[in-house]
Amino acid sequence: MSTTQHHDALASLAAGADLPAAQQPVWPDAARLSSAVAELASYPPLVFAGECDVLKSRMAAAARGEAFVLQGGDCAETFAAATADNIRDRVKTILQMAAVLTYGASVPVVKVGRMAGQYAKPRSSGDETREGVTLPAYRGDMVNDFEFTLESRTPDPQRLVKAYHASSATLNLVRAFTMGGFADLRHVHDWNRGFVSNSANSRYERLAKDIDKAMKFMSACGADFDAMRTTEFFSAHEALLLDYERPLTRVDSRTGELYDTSGHFIWVGERTRDIDGAHVDFVSKVLNPIGVKLSAKAEVDDVLRLIDKVDPDREPGRLTFITRMGARTVRDALPTLVEKITGSGAQVTWICDPMHGNTFESASGYKTRDFEDVVEEVRGFFEVHQGLGTVPGGIHVELTGNDVTECIGGAEKILDADLTKRYETVCDPRLNHQQSLELAFLVAEMLSK
Ligand code: PEP
Ligand code: MN
Repeated sequence: MSTTQHHDALASLAAGADLPAAQQPVWPDAARLSSAVAELASYPPLVFAGECDVLKSRMAAAARGEAFVLQGGDCAETFAAATADNIRDRVKTILQMAAVLTYGASVPVVKVGRMAGQYAKPRSSGDETREGVTLPAYRGDMVNDFEFTLESRTPDPQRLVKAYHASSATLNLVRAFTMGGFADLRHVHDWNRGFVSNSANSRYERLAKDIDKAMKFMSACGADFDAMRTTEFFSAHEALLLDYERPLTRVDSRTGELYDTSGHFIWVGERTRDIDGAHVDFVSKVLNPIGVKLSAKAEVDDVLRLIDKVDPDREPGRLTFITRMGARTVRDALPTLVEKITGSGAQVTWICDPMHGNTFESASGYKTRDFEDVVEEVRGFFEVHQGLGTVPGGIHVELTGNDVTECIGGAEKILDADLTKRYETVCDPRLNHQQSLELAFLVAEMLSK
């Protein structure tokens, strides 16, 4: 490709920099910001454009019902928690869920970690007040620190660079785990046997036994192919901080097209999907598969305009709507949206985020979610698509591989009083390891009906 084409692609990206961008931090020092941005721009991409194209084709398969997408990970990653054990346990949880879902759906499960870049958070208020002291809100480790002091809460542009390195190290380990033998389906299945051997989970024994039989059958047939030993695994995060996403956006040397190389799949949140804003402009200019979160407040006309802007060519796999309506709202709010959008001829992938419409404050004062609501929203999502003859393409879940106590309910029956035991999230409450697996078993049951 020519230098002029290079220049044009990057110039079109830069032109969007003047648009209003919601949820951006106020960096205290312009010179330090420029130097952090320049540093990011000098670093290698975290992902390869060709991988983004592969994921796009997988998302397209999910839109047709020929694959099922599992996106999962922390609400907010932190630098401190980017340890080998934590990363391993999160990957392990996602692999375990995927194995169960593959059996339930009888189609490949597209595994996407909400990780290696999920370091920035939108906030409902720019400030936080505790005992009369008001400080800037925590916006994710990419911006400031969670600790409630002025120094910690002051945005520091060098954190953008740290987020890059933490993402790079995370992705490196994820690639090692998923390609180097850790992800072998036979191990994953053994881990799942451990889960059902716990008496609290005996309800899932039958499904686990069926999977066991299928595994034994494959083994008896001598099946020992690569797909058993390794797995594709993609990274995803909310493209929130444009000072991080823009410098990591590169011209693909194969095609001259722009890709955001900070992750394979990036999404625009419910609070930044303004059609005239900088975020939608940004994602419309990169070729990654793109997600947009939609709450029950989403207006059909706005969503149709979004499709025209982000997916003008109606390219399969390009656009995914991640709906997060709430367990009690999904059956009322989702049908019209899906019907009108499908009727417009758009080909989008529909994914259910059963977390963000179901957050509440517990009596003891913790921000929590009830496992029952999470399951109920997925159930509603499936029912709506079944009723319309459209395709439920996947789920998007906030989870951790650790035994935290942040969401109530599940077979372990976590109570409000338990939340205080291991409430470790710096943002939204996550399903713990057991709750995540339980969700996978329940969704597998829904899929196999
Ligand atoms: C999130 O995914 O953590 C989030 C903030 O979601 P939403 O944009 O749907 O509120
Ligand atoms: Mn969240």
